[in-house]
Amino acid sequence: MATRRSWAEPWKIKMVEPLRMTTRAEREAAIAEAGFNTFLLPSRLVYIDLLTDSGTSAMSDRQWAGLMLGDEAYAGSDNFYHLEAMVRKYYGYKHLIPTHQGRGAEHLLSTICIRPGQYVPGNMYFTTTKAHQERVGGKFVDVIIDEAHDSTSDHPFKGNCDLAKLEKLIERVGANNIAYLSLEGTVNMAGGQPCSLANIRETCALCHRYGIKVFLDATRAVENAYFIKLREPGQAGKTIAQILREICDCTDGCTMSAKKDSLVNIGGFLAVNDDKIAEAARNLCVLFEGLHTYGGLAGRDMEAMAVGIEESVQYDHMHARIGQVEYLGRKLIEGGVPIVRPIGGHGVFIDAGKFLPHLPRDRFPAQALAAALYVDSGVRAMERGAVSAGRDKETGAHLFPKLELVRLTIPRRVYTQAHMDVTAESVIELFQHHRKIAGLRFTYEPEFLRFFQARFEPVGGQSILND
Ligand SMILES: *Cc1c(COP(=O)(O)O)cnc(C)c1O
Repeated sequence: MATRRSWAEPWKIKMVEPLRMTTRAEREAAIAEAGFNTFLLPSRLVYIDLLTDSGTSAMSDRQWAGLMLGDEAYAGSDNFYHLEAMVRKYYGYKHLIPTHQGRGAEHLLSTICIRPGQYVPGNMYFTTTKAHQERVGGKFVDVIIDEAHDSTSDHPFKGNCDLAKLEKLIERVGANNIAYLSLEGTVNMAGGQPCSLANIRETCALCHRYGIKVFLDATRAVENAYFIKLREPGQAGKTIAQILREICDCTDGCTMSAKKDSLVNIGGFLAVNDDKIAEAARNLCVLFEGLHTYGGLAGRDMEAMAVGIEESVQYDHMHARIGQVEYLGRKLIEGGVPIVRPIGGHGVFIDAGKFLPHLPRDRFPAQALAAALYVDSGVRAMERGAVSAGRDKETGAHLFPKLELVRLTIPRRVYTQAHMDVTAESVIELFQHHRKIAGLRFTYEPEFLRFFQARFEPVGGQSILND
C-alpha cells in the first residue's frame, strides 16, 4: 500500500475573492511607504497574505448561515447559550465569559489573578499574553524546554514545559509568589510547536501539588490535540475532540482567541472552573468588554464561533489544515531554506539568522527578509524576532531572543496549493540571492508591542532588495 497518497481539502470553493496583482515597482514604493514594516502595508497591495492566521480564516457556509441566526438581544442572546454549550462540550470548562478577542480574555485573567511582583511562568511568551501579565505587575518566566530555542532540534513536542526549570522557580520564589502557570497549546513563538499530553499532565500535576493554578492559552489547542494524535505513543486511537478535553481537563481554565482554531474573523473567550474567578471576570467584563453574555461581540459573531468550534475538531479539517502547512514547509526544505523543524501547526518559520548570515542582530534580519519577500512576490509575512521581543524593562536594551524568525502563517481554508508553490518559489529564489537583502534600522519605535507600528529604513541604501 502506498503510504504517501495525496490528500485534498475537505471542501470546495463556493465564492471567490479576486486578488490584485502588483508590479515590482508598486511594491517597492509600498514597502518604503510602510516603513519596511509589513503590518503597515494596505492589504489591497498584498497578493498572498501570510501575515497571520488570526481572524483570516474562511468561514464555512454553515457559519455564514449562523450569522443570519444572530439574536441581537442585549442580554441573554440565544447565541450565547449555544456558544456556552459548545465550549462546555469541547473545552469542558464550567463558566464562559465571551470577549472581543483573545487579549480581552487575557486582560480579565491577568487583572484578576496576578498581584504586582508575582511571577507567571509559561512555555515561552506570547506578545499580548506577556504584555497583559506585565501591565498588572507580573513577571513572566520562560520554563519551556531548551529544544524550543533550537531551530534545528527535531523534538516532536518542543512546546513542552521543563519540569526542572519550573520546580526550581517554585523553590526559589515560593508558590505564593507565583500567580499561575500560563500554558500555551502549540507554542506560537517557538514555531507552532505542540506540547505532549504526558507533559501537560505532569506540568499540571506539579503545579497543583503546590496549589498553583494552570491556565491554558487554548488559541491553538485543537491543533495541539491533532499533533498529539499524530505523534504521541498511545494517542492515535482517540479523536481530536477527546484529546482536546483531556488537555483542558488538566487545567483550571483558558483564554481563547477564537480567531485561530475556531475559524472566525473576530471573537474570543475566557473559560474557568472556579466560581470566584468567574464572578470577578463577569464584573470586569461589564467594565471593559460589554455585558457578560456578549463580551463585545454581536450575537451573530457568537453563533459563527459556536459552529466554528465544532468544525475545528473534525479530523478531515485538521488533516488538511496542517497538511497544507506541511506542504509549504517541505518545499522550502527541499529548496535548502533553513526553517524551524519540525514544521509547525499554523505556519512555516524561516530562520532569518541563518538565511541572512551577513546581517547582525541589530540590523533585524527577520524584519528585512519579510520586507524583501514582499518586494519580490507580493507575499506578506511577519517578523518574529528581536523587533517582536521588544526591550528589556530594566536596562532598556533590545532583547535578542535565540530565534530570529520570519513567519509564513497560513490562514485556514483560504489559499490553494498553487499559492503555496508561488510562495515557496519566491523564498527559495531570495535564499539563493540573500546578499542582495539590506539590513534595517528604526526610524520610529513605539512603546508598546513595537512590532505592530514600528518604522525602519534600509541601512546603506534606498532599497531593501538591491539588484
Ligand atoms: C493571537 C493570540 C493571542 C491573542 O489573541 P487576539 O485574538 O489576537 O487578541 C493570544 N495567544 C496566542 C497564542 C495567540 O496566537
